Amino acid sequence: MQSMVVDRYLRYSEIADYISCQWRHDKKFNQGLISTDLVPARDFGSAFHIGIAAAILAWIDDPDPKYVRTKASIAIEQWADSLIENLDTMGDAAYNEIVQIIRDLQESAYQCVRRTLNTFLKLEEWETVIVNGVPAVELEILMSQEDYPDFVPPGWPGVTAHIDWIARHIPTDTTWIIDHKTLKQLKTEEQEELRLQFPMYQKIAQRLGIAVNGTKTLQVRSTPPSIPAETKGGLSRARIATTWSVYKSELIKRGLDPRDYAEMKTKLDVIFHRWSTTWRPQEEIDGVWNRVILPVAASIARSWYDSVNFEPDDAAAQRSLGSIYCGFCDYRVLCIETLRGHDTTHILAKYRNATVAPADEPLDLRYFESDTGLYT
Ligand code: SF4
Repeated sequence: MQSMVVDRYLRYSEIADYISCQWRHDKKFNQGLISTDLVPARDFGSAFHIGIAAAILAWIDDPDPKYVRTKASIAIEQWADSLIENLDTMGDAAYNEIVQIIRDLQESAYQCVRRTLNTFLKLEEWETVIVNGVPAVELEILMSQEDYPDFVPPGWPGVTAHIDWIARHIPTDTTWIIDHKTLKQLKTEEQEELRLQFPMYQKIAQRLGIAVNGTKTLQVRSTPPSIPAETKGGLSRARIATTWSVYKSELIKRGLDPRDYAEMKTKLDVIFHRWSTTWRPQEEIDGVWNRVILPVAASIARSWYDSVNFEPDDAAAQRSLGSIYCGFCDYRVLCIETLRGHDTTHILAKYRNATVAPADEPLDLRYFESDTGLYT
């Protein structure tokens, strides 16, 4: 009989998965089934995060833009190399094709990092907060039950959080937990305000004595501005996903007068980045922790206990079939085929089994120091 202590640390991604679909959560976290498929949108996001983190850390050493870009480029290349290395044993016909997809992802992620640094993220306006002697970039925090018994939910050995960046905005002298995101379509301010991740991270930061004013998301459109098509004697005036500055530079390149295309200035209103800022009252932070995180943590602990102590039961964890999550769910085919009562052995072969689900695997940037609860 297992004791009632879950075999992994509680993290935001597990709570988010449990809330969105219990069946998916059960497969991923209780059964440890992790998809080995390349998911370009998700992998692009990982590469972007690695590039931005490398750029921020490089900026602290030397703010020379060329040095910063080179460091970002090297970090993304290393990410791609390691993905390719792990494909080595495949040896099938798709190998070269997948390598090319990874190299394309590497290049487009690097270009996205460049655009972000050139236009959206002015590193000179930010000072990275030093936590426990290290810059708070891709910061892994771990709070064990032993060290924080008053804080860690019962049934869990600890809580862990992965924070993209904590930085002081120099012009306003305010400090923020910052999350970077790449998306095809940017989300609205309202959607960002209600992200569960942020109040949870604020609560953790508070408990560790890290002072922040609130949270910010930097959303970046993953695709670059489009280049307008040429027409006879000019440029197309169709509305496309681009900016006036890109459109104007294409006009100038062709010796065309931007004044003849003045109406395009307002027509090309696609937004390529958005900073969303949330100042959160203490009541909201406490309310989310007490009324969302703690009850969900208790439900997950029970679901884990049942999964290791009772016979597998496909209906025990509820499916959120038809929710917005089904469209890009890693367990979609397995979920449907199980519902149809089909043999799923060949589908299960596409998952690797992880005893501790490595969702949001930490970047190996620093080492955990047990007396402070922080990675250093
Ligand atoms: S496809 Fe939908 S219902 Fe099935 S596991 Fe995924 S999110 Fe849940």
